[in-house]
Amino acid sequence: MSPELTPPFKSSIAQDRNVHTFISDNGRYVYVSWIVVNSFHARKNFRRQLKKLMELFSAFPHESGIVMQRGIELGILVSSCLLAHSLFILNEHDRSTTSHFYMDVFFEAMLLLRVVFAIPRPYIWLSTWRKFIQARTQPTPQLVGEALTDIYTKQNALEKFLLYFYYGWLLFLSLVTLLTPYRTEFGRSVWNHLLLNYACIVLHRMTCIGMFYYLVNSDIPRGIHPSVIEKESRVVIYADASHSLSEPECSICFAEYEKGDEIRILKCKHEYHKSCVDQWLMRHRNRCPKCLTVVGSSSVASWRID
Ligand SMILES: [Zn+2]
Ligand SMILES: [Zn+2]
Repeated sequence: MSPELTPPFKSSIAQDRNVHTFISDNGRYVYVSWIVVNSFHARKNFRRQLKKLMELFSAFPHESGIVMQRGIELGILVSSCLLAHSLFILNEHDRSTTSHFYMDVFFEAMLLLRVVFAIPRPYIWLSTWRKFIQARTQPTPQLVGEALTDIYTKQNALEKFLLYFYYGWLLFLSLVTLLTPYRTEFGRSVWNHLLLNYACIVLHRMTCIGMFYYLVNSDIPRGIHPSVIEKESRVVIYADASHSLSEPECSICFAEYEKGDEIRILKCKHEYHKSCVDQWLMRHRNRCPKCLTVVGSSSVASWRID
């Protein structure tokens, strides 16, 4: 004859079943191992990602600038919503009905910690956002790429700390909520909040990647401002063949120069119709179409000397 289960036993089994319906045992441990392995390799991955990011900045400076700026704007919006959600959960929590008081106090403390550490973030957001705006208004694509790289390599200590704190907090709390044998009502709300955090991180990344691919295939101007072109070249009016030009025709449109044509001579001594080369330099690349010399400064140092 099997012994009758006492009420506390029954409730513990019921709670365990709730946990199992939420996420299966195996799935739970696979997830935990995934978090542990990933945090172990995080630093190594971060460096590799930074190198890739820098390559991306130099190959697609304008696209990267737009994505980074829009990315941080979206990040500010999403983070604010997540913070509001954590405050909402804290406010909704009914402390009188909890069966696991200490567990709920722990969850409350963790949520409060998250809110407190988010207080300096608007300052970081604003200063980083300003840096992106500044980077995007650099006179040449090369300088835009350099400025973007600078933002990532010269992150200040507070910025880094807050970022690592957030990821650490998210991973630690996820581990605790996954490994605790029971789940209180409040613990469940916290778990839903954590899932929302993961969903937002994934959606944010996907939006940024999608935006980047869209921009790479779009027709945004990738060249330089007319003022930089004026500074880096001179314009002459073609009078006759006695002009000391290196070639009698424009290498962009292959038309021979005619009297009265405006001709732009770059610092590399190559010349083109003003209208032909301006369009190239403003819309496409700030390099001489013939010899690929950069038009405008390619490094911050040389730009400052100019
Ligand atoms: Zn031409
Ligand atoms: Zn040239």
